[in-house]
Amino acid sequence: MSLKGRNAVITGSTSGIGLGIAKALAAEGCNIMLNGLPTPDCEQIRSGLEREAGVKVLFDPADMSKTEQVRALVRNAEAGLGSVDILVNNAGVQHVSPIEDFPEDKLDLIMRVNFFSAFHAIAAAVPGMKARKWGRIIDITSAHSLVASPFKSAYVSSKHAVMGLTKTVALEVATDGITVNAIAPGYVWTPLVERQIPDTMAARNMTKEQVIEEVLLKAQPTKRFVSIEEVAAAAVYLASDAAASITGTTLSIDGGWTAA
Ligand code: NAD
Repeated sequence: MSLKGRNAVITGSTSGIGLGIAKALAAEGCNIMLNGLPTPDCEQIRSGLEREAGVKVLFDPADMSKTEQVRALVRNAEAGLGSVDILVNNAGVQHVSPIEDFPEDKLDLIMRVNFFSAFHAIAAAVPGMKARKWGRIIDITSAHSLVASPFKSAYVSSKHAVMGLTKTVALEVATDGITVNAIAPGYVWTPLVERQIPDTMAARNMTKEQVIEEVLLKAQPTKRFVSIEEVAAAAVYLASDAAASITGTTLSIDGGWTAA
């Protein structure tokens, strides 16, 4: 399933699922544009991946809540790597709160990072993909693009919106050699999940152990967290030529959560 010579942008790829996808694509020979909020270890992550995988790896600290920076990320990747063949819209943020107390700034941020950034990145990347008659767009949604959970009104809405975007763009570019799909993970143990535990403890009056067992893993019939590597392997498959006829769909990796 070699992706040798392809160029990929993965938003929010300095941590968690995005970094896992970047590593897996790089292992198949893809050059990579990493992105994420700047942290002291960004350069170490970039150079480490470049060394390990033997591909070109760039890093762009574009803020995915800012339209112009999202579009510039795609332009910078086209300039630095030569093209954007694979776009993985992965950057995402969460906030847990009852709707009557939901802070407006958090609603705004969640919609911008989770939904608007995917919209603008796709809009910026599609012309180049159309010109080359090949492209793969992979949106990392969530089981929350299909079902809801209380106290996550903004997040669930943003992920349902991305699913609509995935399906719509898939139809628009279906004859251009471009596929557009979503991967909908259940709970994956990453900093994003770890960070929401204190707020969930407060919202539901639970201990940390109760949140893990009775909220997070309760939803997943397999009773275990999905691994980053499982999600990354699905992204590699969707990016491959073998998946050329898969478009406009959601691949659930949720341990059976949405089957219930
Ligand atoms: P994470 O917190 O580990 O990583 C998030 C990444 O996004 C980081 O690289 C961070 O720098 C980046 N980011 C955040 N805000 C940004 C901004 N404004 N601009 C640029 N980059 C920004 O999160 P994760 O758990 O790996 O989640 C990745 C994606 O997977 C998200 O879209 C999330 O909704 C989705 N997801 C996660 C889970 C889970 O259980 N972890 C489940 C389903 C879906």
